[in-house]
Amino acid sequence: MSGIRWVLPFEERPPQDGACIGYPTDWWFPEKHAKGERAKDVIVAKEICAECHVQRECLDYAIAAQEQYGIWGGLNVDARDVLTRKRREQGTLVLFTKIAVNEFGI
Ligand code: SF4
Repeated sequence: MSGIRWVLPFEERPPQDGACIGYPTDWWFPEKHAKGERAKDVIVAKEICAECHVQRECLDYAIAAQEQYGIWGGLNVDARDVLTRKRREQGTLVLFTKIAVNEFGI
């Protein structure tokens, strides 16, 4: 398959054992909802993220992967953009590398 894939160090893949496990994934992706539901879902999702033991790793992953949707580490994309700019200014920004792949996936 041709396209783009991320080169992710194993330790920097999204956390698999976060506090959101077992809750509806849609709560973390309010972009999928009608406006009325979004605010409630975002509040609940952020509360769960605030208690999550991998909150920092989750947020770092989303910033490094330049995720454009969803709540990651308790922050939506706008808040992540602010933090991304701050880290860039501080010289602490880490981004994953995107590479082109051919029809064989390599
Ligand atoms: S920080 Fe939030 S989205 Fe990330 S793993 Fe934890 S609960 Fe899930």
